[in-house]
Amino acid sequence: MAEIQEQTIEITLPDGSTQDHAAGTTGREVAESIGPGLARDALAIKVNGEVRDLGRPITEDAEIAILTWDDEEGKETFWHSSAHLMAEALQELYPDVKFTIGPPIDQGFYYDVDLGDQSLSADELEEIEEKMLELARRDAEYKRHEVSKEDAVRFYEEEDNAYKLELIEDLEEGEISFYEQGDFTDLCRGPHIPSTGRIKAPKLLSVAGAYWRGDESNPQLTRIYGISFPKQKLLEDFLERRRKAKERDHRKLGKELDLFTFDTEKVGPGLPMWLPKGTTLRETLRTVLQEEQIKQGYKPVCTPHIGRLDLYRTSGHYPHYEEDQFPPMVTGEADGEEEGYLLKPMNCPHHVMLYKNDHHSYRDLPVRLSEFGTVYRQEQTGELGGLTRVRGFTQDDAHIFCTPEQVKAEFKEVIDLTLKVLDALDFEEFEAQISLRDPEDTEKYVGRDELWDQAEQDIRDAVAETDLDAYEEPGEAAFYGPKLDFMVEDALGRAWQLGTIQVDYNLPERFDLTYVDQNDERKRPVMIHRAPFGSLERFIGVLIEHCGGNFPTWLAPTQVQIIPVGDDFVDYAETVAARLRTEDVRVEIDTSDETVGYKIRNAETQKIPYMLVVGGDEEEAGTVSVRSHADGPQGTVSVDAFLDRIGPEFEPSLD
Ligand SMILES: [Zn+2]
Ligand SMILES: [Zn+2]
Repeated sequence: MAEIQEQTIEITLPDGSTQDHAAGTTGREVAESIGPGLARDALAIKVNGEVRDLGRPITEDAEIAILTWDDEEGKETFWHSSAHLMAEALQELYPDVKFTIGPPIDQGFYYDVDLGDQSLSADELEEIEEKMLELARRDAEYKRHEVSKEDAVRFYEEEDNAYKLELIEDLEEGEISFYEQGDFTDLCRGPHIPSTGRIKAPKLLSVAGAYWRGDESNPQLTRIYGISFPKQKLLEDFLERRRKAKERDHRKLGKELDLFTFDTEKVGPGLPMWLPKGTTLRETLRTVLQEEQIKQGYKPVCTPHIGRLDLYRTSGHYPHYEEDQFPPMVTGEADGEEEGYLLKPMNCPHHVMLYKNDHHSYRDLPVRLSEFGTVYRQEQTGELGGLTRVRGFTQDDAHIFCTPEQVKAEFKEVIDLTLKVLDALDFEEFEAQISLRDPEDTEKYVGRDELWDQAEQDIRDAVAETDLDAYEEPGEAAFYGPKLDFMVEDALGRAWQLGTIQVDYNLPERFDLTYVDQNDERKRPVMIHRAPFGSLERFIGVLIEHCGGNFPTWLAPTQVQIIPVGDDFVDYAETVAARLRTEDVRVEIDTSDETVGYKIRNAETQKIPYMLVVGGDEEEAGTVSVRSHADGPQGTVSVDAFLDRIGPEFEPSLD
């Protein structure tokens, strides 16, 4: 030890400044030397890219960053440490519990545990939570010990924990560590926060079943989800956001607003059925997108829902991606191969065949074929949730066949279109991921290197010329080409993945697509797949949560609800409705014998943008009493004046 301490190491801080410290200094000491505030907030330290416990000695020159709650990795460490605290509480309350794994997740943490036959109710979760708080108040340190494989095995043999023994099997001698806080010891590589006292506000959120290692043939475990915060106020804010998110849940609003329904038993899981109002919404959105695309030079096409297996053999989708597809409809066999049809998992092969239907000169390119094409994929039922992951969905699909030189301009146009739509729907935060080749392993990609280099640069350039924030992910490209994925943040700050623009060098090869260039030579076009919103289903799901069901007037399934104050005024209501319908306003009349107050409340719950109340005075004067869902009573005006005033709001338009 004495020898080590005589050495000096250089610590480089995130701002580039450097400090000299004795070798063996800890993250805690470094934080203290920077300032007492940082030392108080410090949760972990990043040393040369690796997140570590604050208390671990640093023995060589290092670039470091002290991690606090404001860093993603700080939060992860906090939440993972909270999983240990929850485990400690469980061990006290359920001595027979067996632990498996307890990782941090996007929002909080979970621990998968074997509780035998015991199931947990809400009351019991609360009890565990209270125990966590009690233990946290003891402010026990998270202590790290490196242990030999033999000792690790002995420890878990005594605990009779086959899960941990299985985990240890996969570890090498010298990379096994235990962490201990209070009376609880866990096999873990770490890192953790300094002590349990930092965890001021734990909250257990839910319980679910989970199979050991995700394998259905393994025993079922209990997964307990929780979250925790260093301050009570942060927990309260989180719970408030969660409550709001629940109110906006598109599954809940989809039912309340009569937009869509599922019948998992009879129709099948992940197969949404659109009710009349939802269909109106969907068709309006589709029409607006379609019109915009036609302005941009897309040609609409329409293809069948099935295709021969041979088509998908040529494209490579069959049998390669078999597990994501519904099983084929086999009709026979020829030359030792199955013959039959496949429910289409994507529209591309059909669009390729449409391109091949004609000879193309460079003058025709780009050829842009668009289709709101419905496709079917056999997603795992466990992943299905409302509209955001379904088994039958309609992509806002198009395929662009162009020359390599046209890639950049095509990307730019798709980005512009996407931003225009997001802007029209009041999405303010969006970003994109540029997925590039793995520079370490260029072998696995099809297409020439120069083409890839050019396309990757084209995507960067196209992004740079727009309002889109983008980041790059090397190694995330598909084997057939680089791509750009869109993400939006909704009104509650949650990020959603939408669709994609993707370069493809593979299908043009497989289908031998060509065009004739200026010199009369046959050339290979580049294919671009693009579905910037993913699917209508997914996008509408995200939109519902973003606006909480308060759609812009042009998109609302019912735009105006006419409310006669009594039966005597239904005829006048009909006259008003007829006048509005001549202007293509979507209008309904509430002819129920409820009170006016009730009818207004009902229209408000349905989030209908305008209510027109009509009675004797209105009939006599030819007027309507206007009430807006967003802004309340708007006074009494003639029907024409109402139309003049808010007419433009009814027009479907992205401008
Ligand atoms: Zn741990
Ligand atoms: Zn495609």
